[in-house]
Amino acid sequence: MSLRQRWVLHADMDAFYASIEQRDRPELRGQPVIVGATSARGVVAAASYEARRFGVYSAMPGFRARELCPNGVFLPSDMARYQSVSRQVRAVWEEFTDAIEPLALDEAFLDISGSLGLYGTPLALARRLKQRVHEVVGLRVSVGVAPTKLVAKIACTLGKPDGLAVVQPAEVEKLLDPLPVRRLWGVGPALADKLAHLNITTIRQLRLYDPEWLRRQLGDRAVELQARARGEDGREVESARAPKSYGEENTFLADVSDRETVVAALSAHSEAVARRVRRDGFVGRTVTVKIKLAERQAASSGAVRSDRLYPVLSRQKTLPEPTDDAVLLQRAAVRLWDDEKLAAPIRLIGLSLSGLEAKATLQLGLFEAPGTTAIGPTLDAIQARFGTQAIRRGAESPEKVTPTLRWKRGE
Ligand SMILES: [Mg+2]
Repeated sequence: MSLRQRWVLHADMDAFYASIEQRDRPELRGQPVIVGATSARGVVAAASYEARRFGVYSAMPGFRARELCPNGVFLPSDMARYQSVSRQVRAVWEEFTDAIEPLALDEAFLDISGSLGLYGTPLALARRLKQRVHEVVGLRVSVGVAPTKLVAKIACTLGKPDGLAVVQPAEVEKLLDPLPVRRLWGVGPALADKLAHLNITTIRQLRLYDPEWLRRQLGDRAVELQARARGEDGREVESARAPKSYGEENTFLADVSDRETVVAALSAHSEAVARRVRRDGFVGRTVTVKIKLAERQAASSGAVRSDRLYPVLSRQKTLPEPTDDAVLLQRAAVRLWDDEKLAAPIRLIGLSLSGLEAKATLQLGLFEAPGTTAIGPTLDAIQARFGTQAIRRGAESPEKVTPTLRWKRGE
């Protein structure tokens, strides 16, 4: 049995948003272009390499960027355009492997272990990928290839811009050794300080430190930390899977018992769920209605009053055919509500669609025109599904659709 060498490729577009602007507006080429800091409170979303020479980088507050680079060209973000370019880039990556883990609109891990046959070597594949990205979108991508995610990402970052680095297994230590420990995942400022007190500032010092001593200082995480210092990283490239369900729910500002209000809420939820499901290219067959009653009940016998909970009912219906049609969702949901014959007031109602499958009529592909709505899972959709940001956004700033409804999104 031969053990196949695993190869992870990290691809990261160079100054993505700023490069798109420079590509589309030739007069901006060679100029310090700064995207996303046009409002008073905005932060820099991307800075061209010309702007970086002034010390401007992404996530910097706009006012600071203006101080450093007063003659910079400040542009608003045009996310729709960047997302459409992102989909084209993603399609190029799909030419090389199915195992793609997106990290951002312009960045992903690709497991290319099974794709080398056509190209011979990781270097040849990486060259071809860079070339294809340039042919298709006219932009530069930096690439790092290594046996692990950790090393691939570091190699990619070190090579920017327009980088191309392949790190052979035997070269990993040579690459990592001179770097500061902060380069390793999981080493934040606090841990870096702690390590500095042990006279560990480089990855080599961390790697060679006496394991028992380090364990006494840092506890169990010392083992994993030293493994990382050797470039070890067992994490697989996790390609995006379909979400399990799409859901919308709202808490009423006052308890509700009339059918009209409930039906209005279910209709709005049906529309919202159907829109999201369609956007991501799925259909689903199981409709679930969630109802939270307004009267508290004891969680269990002997519970004190403050432990009393609002009972939650959940009712499901499976449709004959999977759908992304709001009308069908709404009908099924209202039927479930009516069948329940609830007299008691409720405080929350939700609707979700599960039993999802990809809508198989059209594929997201190479030939998608920029600016069209993607059919099939898109990169932004994947981020919305898997990014914790999407969940946080829902919890922190619930959309207020009407004065009586407060909304929450769940996946
Ligand atoms: Mg990038």
